[in-house]
Amino acid sequence: MIDVKQEVKKIESEIIEWRHQLHMIPEIHTELPQTTAFIKARLEEMGLTYRTYTNNGISVVIEGADDGPVIGFRADMDALPVKEETGLPFASTNEYMHACGHDAHAAMLLGAAKVLSQHKDQIKGKVVMIWQPAEETSGGSKQMIEEGCLSDPKVDRFVSMHIGNLFKDVPTGYLGVRHGPLMASCSSFNVKIKGKGGHGARPHECIDPIVISCDIIQSLQKIVSREINPVHGAVITVGLIHAGTIVNVIPSEATFGGTVRCYQPEDAEHLEKRIKELITNTALANRAEAEIEYIRYYPATINNNEVTDFLAECAAKIVGPDKVVEIAEPSTGTEDVAYYINEVPGSFGILGSIQPFEDGVVYPHHNSKMMLDESVFWIGSAVFVQAALDFCR
Ligand SMILES: [Zn+2]
Ligand SMILES: [Zn+2]
Repeated sequence: MIDVKQEVKKIESEIIEWRHQLHMIPEIHTELPQTTAFIKARLEEMGLTYRTYTNNGISVVIEGADDGPVIGFRADMDALPVKEETGLPFASTNEYMHACGHDAHAAMLLGAAKVLSQHKDQIKGKVVMIWQPAEETSGGSKQMIEEGCLSDPKVDRFVSMHIGNLFKDVPTGYLGVRHGPLMASCSSFNVKIKGKGGHGARPHECIDPIVISCDIIQSLQKIVSREINPVHGAVITVGLIHAGTIVNVIPSEATFGGTVRCYQPEDAEHLEKRIKELITNTALANRAEAEIEYIRYYPATINNNEVTDFLAECAAKIVGPDKVVEIAEPSTGTEDVAYYINEVPGSFGILGSIQPFEDGVVYPHHNSKMMLDESVFWIGSAVFVQAALDFCR
């Protein structure tokens, strides 16, 4: 067996440089021509053949020397419509920014591809590597799964990681794991309450959509507090409400919308059903009509216990058992890695990488001053390599 740490350390500066190159050319959603060209060029240099997808995703299959199980890895590669303010020498050269660290993900997986492509003889089975677009927007993973990234060859176990400061209990250079739920599911709703407008002094001749909307918005919170198991946790936030133009007119319509987060698939079902029922029926009870648009975004990321143990063991070989930590609380954020983990038993880990800005503040992900500590990138690559070697043997 090769010394994984030593092999990955040999290319550490290359991994960091790849990330700099990607950081300078951030692109968003599925429109990633420069990013994908960069990744494809590196894969070609490694002698690896890749497959492409209609959403511009890329996957590679590294075939081992012998038959055996198949492990899948994923890196996302899309950036955000944020204007970078880090002042770094390799800062973005356009109006977008890699403010979530997906540039590092793409580079770390390239590092693993390079090491594994040089040691195929150590692999019994196959390693599927996925570079995915549109994590921040429409769920690029879903499209790639529909086009067969997990089925040809059939992936048996799945591992992915997110870098950065997402979880306070994962310091720099540590690998955070979590058995069970790690990230929430996300849905949103937009509602139009159609009443009857008129003079503000003659409410009895109107159907007031503002009063009805207020009634509904208050009642929505009771679904969380009275119908969801408090141990599971859920959030309904109404983040926008619009109605009216002047104080003495009752408008004919009011609109509001919100976001819904939870961890259990059955809670996601229940919340959708009950939010729709409550809005429709409260409107009816008040002589109004409701139009509801309800959109399910990503499901919850629920890590498989056995794969989480495996990921923790692999990480312990790289960073030492003391630097592998169990994350205490799941995040109410959401991640489209959930689609892979719903298909194949898998686990999503967190690689701690905390880099304060020059003012000493650690800015959160999606902020124009979010930075990463580059000294941990090799760990991400090494954990992937270790997982491939330990699973496919
Ligand atoms: Zn993000
Ligand atoms: Zn992200």
